[in-house]
Amino acid sequence: MIEQKTRVLIVDDDREIGSILHDFLSRSYDCIAVTSAADALAALASAPFDLIMSDISMPQMSGLEMIPHIATLAPESVVVMISGQRMIESAIEAMRAGAFDYITKPFELTQVDAVVRRALDYRKQRDGRSRATRCDAEKRRLAQALNNHDFIVHYQPQVEIPSLKIVGAEALVRWEDRERGMLLPSDFIPLAEDTGLIVPIGAAVLQTACAQARQWHQMGLADFCVAVNVSPKQLQEDNFLKTVAQALDDAGLEPEFLEIEVTETSLMQNPEIGIQTLTTLRAMGVKIAIDDFGTGYSSLGYLKRLPIDSVKLDASFVKDATSDPDDAALVMAIITLAHNLRLKVTAEGIETQDQLAFLRLLRCDRGQGYFFGRPGISDEMTSGKNKIKLDFDCRPSEPLNKDTTQHRNLAQAAYRN
Ligand code: C2E
Ligand code: MG
Ligand code: MG
Repeated sequence: MIEQKTRVLIVDDDREIGSILHDFLSRSYDCIAVTSAADALAALASAPFDLIMSDISMPQMSGLEMIPHIATLAPESVVVMISGQRMIESAIEAMRAGAFDYITKPFELTQVDAVVRRALDYRKQRDGRSRATRCDAEKRRLAQALNNHDFIVHYQPQVEIPSLKIVGAEALVRWEDRERGMLLPSDFIPLAEDTGLIVPIGAAVLQTACAQARQWHQMGLADFCVAVNVSPKQLQEDNFLKTVAQALDDAGLEPEFLEIEVTETSLMQNPEIGIQTLTTLRAMGVKIAIDDFGTGYSSLGYLKRLPIDSVKLDASFVKDATSDPDDAALVMAIITLAHNLRLKVTAEGIETQDQLAFLRLLRCDRGQGYFFGRPGISDEMTSGKNKIKLDFDCRPSEPLNKDTTQHRNLAQAAYRN
């Protein structure tokens, strides 16, 4: 990652002082010099600055008057005042108003250098402290949410593409936070992973999803499968197999109706343990899918060795498959490869009828996406809300030829039609 240079804003109506400071500080920092408070506030409104060095006395708005505006516009910045005379009173006034430090005119550049470094060090420590405090508070909230049962599971329908029948659902966790409303996995899964809380959260999701699948079966949806996401920490954890067996047992669900989704990256973290765990799960009858397939780094040979039943083609490929010939060719290659390895393919993120038509043509097995239904509470799966409306002819797909140029022509023809 390229680290961004520290940004310094210099404000002094005396152009000469401003220019001396600018030339000197530009050796180490990314500096901008302006000659009025109005220009300074405009600069702060358009870009962040780490440090603001401002003259105390300026016509129109003084440096001191500027401080409350800085606190609103750029609360993360640290302020150093330049005082016109050696007067302790103005220095105290500046600090009281919120400046971190001050320099007095005439100044030595070494003094400027020392003050700027001190102010930036302070800023770094302050930011580190507040980040750590925020993180601690968030960890406590996460643990509390688990105790309060604030995690709920939404379900998104999965459709068998040839028959367009809903054959199951993916369980997707949400956090119903009393203050912030409903939070999505991207808001809390990374922290849950870091703190290890993903293990009990994941176990709760497994329990809920298995119980839900059993309930669907009892309602007459006999072959409904439920897919549950499992994170790297869960997969490597000693008790994971027991947790899965317990969830199935408590729900009275046959293992074949549970699918575990793992990502390539999560398997890569400790392939031996991961593969062993998946092999045991599969021997129990649980299905295994590789999630977000195509975004990781698996070699094709590696895919062959994995104990899996299906791959979930990542939504990023589906998105442009009907407009970009390269993506169309990729989708086609992945589906063909998976089928050659006797794996099923579920396409993620299907949003349009065109995308569905294209995937049908390529004999993609299953699909999931807003086109069929958004994730929702379990009732939405059975209320008929996810009925699929189509206005295209459900003719069988064309046979595929393995030649890649023909594949590409076929792909292009498919999305032109
Ligand atoms: P994922 O497993 O790849 O799940 C699919 C994500 O794509 C879901 O986001 C879903 O809402 C979204 N999605 C579905 N159809 C469409 C579509 O047509 N268009 C677009 N743009 N998006 C669509 P969500 O629910 O925010 O979940 C994000 C990720 O969080 C999941 O990706 C999964 O990796 C993770 N996750 C969700 N639930 C759990 C869980 O219980 N445990 C763990 N460890 N991870 C979970
Ligand atoms: Mg998933
Ligand atoms: Mg996915």
